[in-house]
Formats: sequence, structure tokens, C-alpha cells
Amino acid sequence: MLERKIEKALVDKVKLHGGLCLKFISPSMTGIPDRIILLPKGKVGFVETKKPKGEPRPIQKKRIKQFKDLGFKVYVLDDKKDIDEIIKNIGGR
Ligand SMILES: [Mg+2]
Repeated sequence: MLERKIEKALVDKVKLHGGLCLKFISPSMTGIPDRIILLPKGKVGFVETKKPKGEPRPIQKKRIKQFKDLGFKVYVLDDKKDIDEIIKNIGGR
């Protein structure tokens, strides 16, 4: 439930920045991050949301590394206060 709240806060904040925060589901691959964030001017990032102090599962850690190795920005979010910093890092203002 707490993870849901954090995820909702992320969705709302990305919207305020004029972007989209899409639920990311791939039927053919488990462990992928929960959300794709699309920001104006072609900026993209991925977020794995967790309850406070939650840690990604091993398969999630593996996917995060795969995505990062491909050059994508991936973040683990377990605290609402980190949302602004993540959006800024992806390239929002
Ligand atoms: Mg999650």
C-alpha cells in the first residue's frame, strides 16, 4: 500500500512536469522497473518503486543493471522526497 502511495506521488509529479509516467509491463520479461518516465524533449528514465526502505529483488537488481548497461537512467524510489531529484536527473526542470 505504501508503495502504491509513492507510485501515485511520482505519477502526479511527472504530470506536473508535462510528462508521462507509464506503468511498464512486459509479458516476456520479469523484474523490469515499475514505471517508464517520459519527459519533454525526449527524456526518458525508469523507476522501480518500493515501500519505504524496500530493496529491489535480485531479478529486479539484474534488470536495473541491464538497463543501466544500455545507457538508460534507472532509479529505485522508496521515499517521496526523492521524486524531485529523480525528475531533475532524468532531465525535467
Ligand atoms: Mg516495485
